[in-house]
Amino acid sequence: MILKNSPTEALLDVEAVRRDFPILQSSVCGKPLVYLDNAASAQKPQSVIDRLDRYYKEQNANIHRGVHFLSQEATVAYEDARKVVARFINAAEPKECIFTRNATEAVNLVASSWGRANLKAGDEIIISTMEHHANIVPWQMLRDELGVVIKVVPISDTGEFLVEDYKALFTAKTKLAALCQVSNSLGTINPAKVMVEIAHQQGVPVLLDGAQAIAHLPIDVQDLDCDFYVFSGHKLFGPTGIGVLYGKADLLSAMPPYQGGGDMIDRVTFEKTTYRGIPERFEAGTPHISGAIGLATAIEYVEQLGHEAMIAHEQSLLKEATDKLLEIPGLRIYGTAGDKVSVISFTMDGIHPNDAGTILDADGIAVRTGHHCTMPLWQRFGLEGSIRASFAFYNTREEIDLLVTGLGKVQKLLG
Ligand SMILES: *Cc1c(COP(=O)(O)O)cnc(C)c1O
Repeated sequence: MILKNSPTEALLDVEAVRRDFPILQSSVCGKPLVYLDNAASAQKPQSVIDRLDRYYKEQNANIHRGVHFLSQEATVAYEDARKVVARFINAAEPKECIFTRNATEAVNLVASSWGRANLKAGDEIIISTMEHHANIVPWQMLRDELGVVIKVVPISDTGEFLVEDYKALFTAKTKLAALCQVSNSLGTINPAKVMVEIAHQQGVPVLLDGAQAIAHLPIDVQDLDCDFYVFSGHKLFGPTGIGVLYGKADLLSAMPPYQGGGDMIDRVTFEKTTYRGIPERFEAGTPHISGAIGLATAIEYVEQLGHEAMIAHEQSLLKEATDKLLEIPGLRIYGTAGDKVSVISFTMDGIHPNDAGTILDADGIAVRTGHHCTMPLWQRFGLEGSIRASFAFYNTREEIDLLVTGLGKVQKLLG
């Protein structure tokens, strides 16, 4: 192993970390699993699995309003989870963190509630070329419904957000900027704080899509000063089916409900219903109680690992993998920004990404192939999609070598 005694290795004991993730000990097609699809969904540590188990064995009940013991247990655990989320992203108050199904639902909540209440025909929303479909389609639905106009920030050939072009898009009609902090397809880390500052100079609120950033970077929503921030639990080593919408309290409090039902009401009569304040107003019906609790455990796992160690290891994996992949003839990397997370998208001359993915799979190597829910981004590069290897803190240098060997096989078979 290279760099065995480097500071990176000292910060993170990868073998010990790997033992925390049961699925990483498993085999696929008789080969040890090499999981390089973390940008799509990350694996879960034993502590998260145990927490879900304990919740259902010892604490399961519906939350809020219950006078009995279990209901109160579950309510406390659920509300404690909200506090953990708030601490993790440094929200000013837990009530600014709304539990949703995922990042997608969080964007839809803002589009439906804030969008319908605040936008009219001709108003403009700024997004970027590298957005995930989750941060494109909800705004297009609003465009079709209300007649708002979507403007798109271009990117450079290296996959970087063009700040000057962004600035130039603002007009008196701009009402929202909805932008990703990190691109799931290119790995680009965008200058989120600058992007927010520029919008705020024009009096325009900003929604940051943090679905990819949250698993790689420390997030401080107060420092970013973003108005909304969205992410999913499953990319942050937590359960599926749970996500978060952060919003500044005054903005959220002024927004009408998104869905109606139980838990979000103050008083209901057949004539008139009044709604509760935040966060309950936006959590109609029985929420994903265990999901929220499991997410909090995942966050605690990341906190205990520490971002410094995580980032040092991931960045060294990124550099080594980039160098080794570039030695493969005919391989081209898309997304070569100076600031990147450990996501590498690439194509190989004359080889369809899906075919490469299938051959790698036979060796137990999981990569993603296709458009990665960013079709307009690939149109920008004149492509249908790519092969994407995305690394988490539990990936190793040996796995990079296995990927490179696997790609050699792909070339021999298809090239
Ligand atoms: C994954 C992802 C989403 C969507 O997340 P879901 O969990 O599918 O809702 C949105 N934006 C980015 C940047 C992502 O990586």
